[in-house]
Amino acid sequence: MKLNDTYMHQVTLYDPDTGVTAYIVVDRLINGMCGGGCRMSPTVTMGEVGMLARTMTYKFAAMGVKVGGAKSGIVFDPRSPDRRKASAAFGKLSIPYLHSIYVTAEDMGTDAEDVRIIYENAGVDPIEFAKKQAEKLGITLELPEGVEFSNLGGESFEELITGYGVAEAADEATGLVGIALEGATAAVQGFGTVGAITARNLARRGVKVIAVTDIEGSIVSKDGLDVEKMIGARDAAGTVGRNKLDFDFTTGNGDGWLTAGADIIVPAAIANAISEKNIKKVDAKLILEGANIPITPGAQKKLMKKGVPIIPDFIANAGAAAGFGLILTGECKIEEVFGEFSARIRNGVRYCMEVSKKQNITTRQAAIQLAMENLEKLG
Ligand code: NAD
Repeated sequence: MKLNDTYMHQVTLYDPDTGVTAYIVVDRLINGMCGGGCRMSPTVTMGEVGMLARTMTYKFAAMGVKVGGAKSGIVFDPRSPDRRKASAAFGKLSIPYLHSIYVTAEDMGTDAEDVRIIYENAGVDPIEFAKKQAEKLGITLELPEGVEFSNLGGESFEELITGYGVAEAADEATGLVGIALEGATAAVQGFGTVGAITARNLARRGVKVIAVTDIEGSIVSKDGLDVEKMIGARDAAGTVGRNKLDFDFTTGNGDGWLTAGADIIVPAAIANAISEKNIKKVDAKLILEGANIPITPGAQKKLMKKGVPIIPDFIANAGAAAGFGLILTGECKIEEVFGEFSARIRNGVRYCMEVSKKQNITTRQAAIQLAMENLEKLG
């Protein structure tokens, strides 16, 4: 099976009151539904949103979830004091989508509060919307409220799920490449929803996190950073307050996560973070794509030649999409969801590593094969 070169639907939205421009791309509908987060960035483009929507199609399919891929982007600086107004404007602009086919969530530049504001301004209760969609398919959704995940750290479900999944992927992949996860070193680019919770879950498994890079540069310690203190020192945009940290560290430029000498690196911030320009600095034994499309196609091929395995975004960071998707399509009860999506992520890791080796293709190309095989069955 092959997907069309064009997306099913793409639209530019503009709010004259706030001057906010936004994009929505629907790549594919399955059972009349599509899902994908909402990004906020001053530089986000329709092209980027389209590529991310396609990635969502691959992600749901690779995880065997019956939802199509979509994405949205608000052209706005998430560090602006008017950020919540931009989210409200987007909520109003996206009413036709959020009332009918599209389920959105956090993405880079947006947090749970932005998502709440978006739904409030669109006049949609996302739980009721999900129940109605499920009813159309003859499914009665039972979404128990207030389920505690305190055994996993007590963060909110939305915040916890993706970073937990990246750590599960790391556990599976290190086993396959012959690295002991416990005692390995890691460096992370991005310390927001994905980067920080990945770092926390790696640290809990005995990994020493030696470098973190956020938009202001890098924080490095060869002895290991205190991830919990750094999470406590973050602002809503995922910037770590250096002056709030009371342990020893050095600071550096935006390359610190690449140059610290970590065994495992996790790009968990921007697109194209590793490209032909900086590939020489990559000296890791394993890369987990916490962010979406963080490595250019050219750099992926070079890293493959160099023998550095990459676990692609739509496998490594599929936690939220798979977790929510499995609940919303009635396939899984909320209490079982961590076990179920973890198993699917681990399966994806094994598949892309094995097929990449056998067919001499990149792990991303191998993972697309998995998605296409599943898509054939999902419709
Ligand atoms: P976020 O907004 O919560 O955090 C972004 C982090 O990246 C911040 O620490 C910020 O300082 C840092 N950053 C921004 N620009 C940077 C730059 N130029 N250099 C270095 N660091 C920079 O974002 P997030 O929700 O964690 O999303 C990060 C990536 O993960 C995105 O690609 C997103 O699509 C993907 N993703 C997010 C989720 C989710 O549930 N939030 C799920 C799957 C994938």
